[in-house]
Amino acid sequence: MSEQRSKPTGLYIAGEWITDTDESIVSKNPSNSDEVVAEVAKGDRSDAQDAVDAAVHAQDEWASLTTHERGSYLHETASIIEDRKEELSQLVVQEMGKTIGAASGELQRTIDLLNYYAEVARDAGGNAPPSASENTLTYTQREPWGTAGVITPWNYPIAIPTWKMAPALIAGNTVVFKPASQTPTIAAELVSAFEEAGLPEGVINFVPGSGSDVGDEITTNDDIDIVTFTGSYQVGDHVHTAASDEGKRVQCEMGGKNPIIVDDSADIDLAVELTINGGFTGLSGQACTATSRAIILESVYDEYIDRLIERVESLTVGDPLDESSDMGPKSSAGGLEGDLDYIEIGKEDGATLRTGGNRLEGDEYEDGYYVEPTVFTDVEPDMRIAQEEIFGPVLAVLEVADYDEAIEVANSVQYGLSASICTNRLDHAKQFVRDIETGIVKVNQTSTGVEMQMPFGGRKQSSTETFKEQGRQALDFYTHEKAVYVTHTE
Ligand code: NAP
Ligand code: MG
Repeated sequence: MSEQRSKPTGLYIAGEWITDTDESIVSKNPSNSDEVVAEVAKGDRSDAQDAVDAAVHAQDEWASLTTHERGSYLHETASIIEDRKEELSQLVVQEMGKTIGAASGELQRTIDLLNYYAEVARDAGGNAPPSASENTLTYTQREPWGTAGVITPWNYPIAIPTWKMAPALIAGNTVVFKPASQTPTIAAELVSAFEEAGLPEGVINFVPGSGSDVGDEITTNDDIDIVTFTGSYQVGDHVHTAASDEGKRVQCEMGGKNPIIVDDSADIDLAVELTINGGFTGLSGQACTATSRAIILESVYDEYIDRLIERVESLTVGDPLDESSDMGPKSSAGGLEGDLDYIEIGKEDGATLRTGGNRLEGDEYEDGYYVEPTVFTDVEPDMRIAQEEIFGPVLAVLEVADYDEAIEVANSVQYGLSASICTNRLDHAKQFVRDIETGIVKVNQTSTGVEMQMPFGGRKQSSTETFKEQGRQALDFYTHEKAVYVTHTE
């Protein structure tokens, strides 16, 4: 029975699980910090080197399979995960605290991504434009790079590794995967599902461990050909420089400070719901695409704010396994402290704290990292709470005179991941799509939530802007393209 299965808790190198390391990572439940979810073997630099060797060793044979054959491993992995969907959704909740509804959505996305890339694999070739010469065949052919280093964050602890590894594998690369130290158990479950699907040994190698040790080895090891990273700008910028210095192809997707603009034609009820769903519910604001700024035209400001505050105050914060909770805890003590620090900064900088602002107390919250959903008004564009990624349920509301000022404020940050406008004016929607400096643009939708067949990636400090993730475009990063000319002489 799936309930009785013991959790995989080791490193996975060359097809073997390794559990006898000197140190371990203790994964704890953020809604009850006394509860140990699992104790996981912790790898170090030399384990990462072993993992790279295993990946290099396995690569030729893996690349020699047809894309159809490689795709069949992904379909099989998807079906194993589907059988465990409920159990694994609960594990995501226990390990990082998003609500069960959000976790279950993440598991479904993981299954869909695996099936999607298995199918994309069937059609992942190049193209064949006709040659200028009658006796020549010209076409392009995609080839894998070799070994891919995969470094991921904790907020989508199974979907993000999947949207990196699935296209990497389909393209014929082998992988060394380092999960976030906060979520090693769910990451190990993903690896274990690939193992059960019969993936040949050495094709995925898994090394939980610290960023400065295992992460740095993956970033700089000579035998890693390409590095894909998702996480904060601070770490990603370093990874980008370090991997580029070693001559590697690198792709980093990083933080965000995503706005929603509400104009004078907007359906205000919809605008409030988009703000609530983008900024608060499910992940407590811990999405890279989370709505963290609301930029509101003055003509609709009072109406919007009154309804927003009412809705925020009606949110249920509590046990994320309970389906009636809108928000669970923050994922860590550090994340909670970060929010509380920014709340102080907001007050000191002169913004008005309209609701929330405190750690939640009382029985239900005692051992968890719970914070109230928080809204600041009278926020000026240059305040730190309007500029910096907080990564929590803390919304900065900015009032503007007109549409032009709204765009100027929206673009006045270093980040450029996602942005949303709530409007019923086609001219505003069109201008917004053109003027906004982000990689993802939403009209009458939340800033969060993407479809996997669409390319994903930011601009400015949200991304290295080298390659997109997801969609067919993901394969561009994981392959290089040869231009082939074949002339026959007869
Ligand atoms: P993080 O602290 O930057 O960590 C991301 C990953 O990098 C983790 O696996 C981490 O390992 C590793 N790492 C740390 N130092 C490293 C180093 N020196 N060399 C190589 N790797 C290193 O980010 P996080 O706290 O996990 O996640 C939150 C951030 O991710 C937010 O900024 C959020 O916006 C961003 N994010 C972006 C996207 C996107 O697609 N744009 C999606 C989701 C999240 P340890 O865990 O062991 O430290
Ligand atoms: Mg971190």
